[in-house]
Amino acid sequence: MYDYICTMELLDGKQLSKILKSEIKQEVEKIMAKGERAPHLAAILVGNNPASQSYVRSKVRSCDEVGFRSTLLHLEENITEKELLEVVERCNTDPELDGFIVQLPLPDHINEQRINLAINYKKDVDGFHPVNFGRMVQGLPAFLPATPFGILMMLDRYHIETEGKNCVVIGRSNIVGQPMSILLSRKAYPGNCTVTLAHSRTKNLSEITRKADIIVAAIGRPNYLKADMVSEGVVVIDVGINRVEDASRKRGYRLVGDVDFENVAPKCSHITPVPGGVGPLTVTGLLLNTLKSYNKEVYI
Ligand code: NAD
Repeated sequence: MYDYICTMELLDGKQLSKILKSEIKQEVEKIMAKGERAPHLAAILVGNNPASQSYVRSKVRSCDEVGFRSTLLHLEENITEKELLEVVERCNTDPELDGFIVQLPLPDHINEQRINLAINYKKDVDGFHPVNFGRMVQGLPAFLPATPFGILMMLDRYHIETEGKNCVVIGRSNIVGQPMSILLSRKAYPGNCTVTLAHSRTKNLSEITRKADIIVAAIGRPNYLKADMVSEGVVVIDVGINRVEDASRKRGYRLVGDVDFENVAPKCSHITPVPGGVGPLTVTGLLLNTLKSYNKEVYI
């Protein structure tokens, strides 16, 4: 006889991303077989932030895996805003470039909003430009922000029921929490949830999260969501990527999510690990947006 039977299913973003990438690769092979050029993604990286360098490397590697062409534009930390705007403009008008991203954060002397607004929304495969954001809100074809897009794919491919569910999104950033709350409340699958968007000024968060069927944690605080904050059978999507010191690791740190995985997981029906959950799907979302741009599925 068992004391405890764990029915929790791990939402394996690494595995799912492999499947999605092999689907993308097949599409690229069909394109190439017709003698046409490969889809092309560029990444603009300013300075030497180690986390940003690692994200960009992973994006370039993923392009290679699926047969995309990729270009890395690595610019000096002290580049002026005007010079960066010129690089953005060159990308905007390059006829052989389907999409590009400007890796955030940018150095303090550069206004991120000004750079974001300068990006041609037809090549905004990160989905951060207000035109894409507005179209997303209205349910029009748009490049969806890569992380929420990846989470939708996760819910879809794992056949997670969302209709009528109480969903709590924690965090209201423009790139994760806010668009996630909009996408989960839209009339679609995945969607049709009753969404609560919680943030740093939310009172009695535990009372809210305990009523949730689905929780998306995008806070940026290690192990913040504890076992006593969730109910049995909840679906937990952990977006957080936090470095915590760990002398036992060669690099001196390890990555943890916003969820106290060890204690929360046994209560869940489904949960994403960190690493290997949402992260790999964010990159896949970016690849899919680039393919959509190439195929002119969003804009002519
Ligand atoms: P952000 O700092 O822009 O936003 C954090 C949000 O959390 C804010 O809206 C804030 O109101 C909320 N918050 C802070 N403290 C809170 C509290 N005590 N209770 C409730 N809400 C609180 O962060 P972001 O860019 O949305 O990123 C969030 C996390 O997700 C970070 O760890 C980041 O590294 C990670 N991230 C991961 C991916 C991925 O691909 N997996 C992509 C983007 C971001």
